[in-house]
Amino acid sequence: MPSINKKTSSPRTGRSTRRRGRPAPELIFGDLWEFDPAPETADPRLQPRYDLFINGQFVRPRSGKYFDSINPANERKLAEIALAGSADVDAAYAAAQDAFQSTWSRMPGRERAKYLFRIARLLQDRAREFAVAETLDGGKPIKESRDFDVPMAAAHFFYHAGWADKLEYVAPGRQLAPLGVVGQVIPWNFPLLMLAWKVAPALATGNTVVLKPAETTSITALKFAGILQDAGLPPGVVNFVCGAGETGAAVMAHPVAAKVAFTGSTEVGKAIMRSLAGTEKKMTMELGGKAANIVFDDAPLDQAVEGIVNGIFFNQGHVCCAGSRLLVHEPIAERVLAKLKLRLNVLRVGDPMDKNTDIGAINSKPQLEKIRRLVASGVKEGAEMFQPPCRLPAQGYYFRPTLFSGVTMSHRIAREEIFGPVLSILTFRTVDEAIEKANNTAYGLSAGVWTDKGSRILKLSTALKAGVVWANTYNRFDPSSPFGGYKESGFGREGGRHGLLDYTRLAPV
Ligand code: NAD
Repeated sequence: MPSINKKTSSPRTGRSTRRRGRPAPELIFGDLWEFDPAPETADPRLQPRYDLFINGQFVRPRSGKYFDSINPANERKLAEIALAGSADVDAAYAAAQDAFQSTWSRMPGRERAKYLFRIARLLQDRAREFAVAETLDGGKPIKESRDFDVPMAAAHFFYHAGWADKLEYVAPGRQLAPLGVVGQVIPWNFPLLMLAWKVAPALATGNTVVLKPAETTSITALKFAGILQDAGLPPGVVNFVCGAGETGAAVMAHPVAAKVAFTGSTEVGKAIMRSLAGTEKKMTMELGGKAANIVFDDAPLDQAVEGIVNGIFFNQGHVCCAGSRLLVHEPIAERVLAKLKLRLNVLRVGDPMDKNTDIGAINSKPQLEKIRRLVASGVKEGAEMFQPPCRLPAQGYYFRPTLFSGVTMSHRIAREEIFGPVLSILTFRTVDEAIEKANNTAYGLSAGVWTDKGSRILKLSTALKAGVVWANTYNRFDPSSPFGGYKESGFGREGGRHGLLDYTRLAPV
């Protein structure tokens, strides 16, 4: 990392000079040097208005109502989205049921595979356009939607295309049958990727789908509907209905749904489970998290610091598996904190469409307010806060990357999911204390371990009650690797062979 020299003003010229050798973490990165703006220029091909996608067609909502989708980077309206009422949800389920019975469940796996493969290729062909649309609608940096979200979404369709004609290998000795129509509701943090995680395994196993995207990020789902049309997917196999919680509840509770798959907050997940208790619907729940990222004194510290930063500041911390609690071995705590502060000073916060931006916009005003509330509670409860003095754009929803040190497990910021770029730092002395603190949470979605010792990694990967444990890395994903939680982070898996099992019924051969 370049050394940071203090900038002062020369009395002779009035221009800035720098005194060498003094770190000045209070300096704003852009005061020292500034990157030229590097805005992404691909055309997202947005429409002013998007209708619902039912039975292979874009249709106006029966209610006649539309709601706005806002660009969180500048608070400007991007498009109008059709609001689905219960009659629209009924129509989507009727189309999905018809498609299930008449075509999709009867089609040989090798034919379904061709559609999935075609969808993946079409998405790849239009990757840049989709990345720009995702960034405009959701606020995430373009480098993330371009390099992670869209390629990963395509990878899920490729991966599941490979399974569609090999389902007899998913559970050898048993026969797999599709469930029927699947109702799916997804959140706003990875709109297209969450869609791919849900739609690809459902289609590969012969189910049909009614999906509701999050109300702040519906655009890429509706653009994706255009890809389904171009791929020639039979009408009704996939249907998209839009709206907020009321529409989501109608999708989850619909009597035709044989299974519901929900990704979102634990609070809403619990409400859905309560409403469906006693029904025969199969369920998978991918809910919240409060992951521990554990750093031991033998870890490669510079790599660990990059991993910690990626773990919590990636996608503004809008990540269910974000490493939002850093557990640091006491002997290295001061060094790690100093390195993190330096690293935060050079993170670039701002326009998500700029290719240099590390931290983009918070997805919505309510989410920004929630982050502010929890950060204020951290200050009030006595944790020590550090924020780099970066300048935030005047318009839009932005929040500085934030570190809290001196945090204990009784602080709200150590217990509640913030879902923002906020890291709470705790310390530990022994391996057992690290395990105890890491597991001292209602959640259990993910964890990270940084150490040189393989035996310690193996011990922790068993002892940590988390669905994913990363070792000497963080936030790595692959379609072949199942993802899902323990405890209040939910149940069921997405991805890999396990994810396919959640979309099927097993019968003896
Ligand atoms: P949220 O629960 O508020 O909303 C998620 C979705 O549910 C949205 O589409 C919303 O419209 C819908 N919804 C709201 N009320 C509903 C109801 N009563 N019935 C049915 N649907 C309803 O969550 P969010 O704020 O959009 O997303 C953030 C949450 O998602 C975080 O808690 C995060 O950890 C979680 N998440 C989990 C995973 C995972 O894989 N475990 C992945 C991504 C996000």
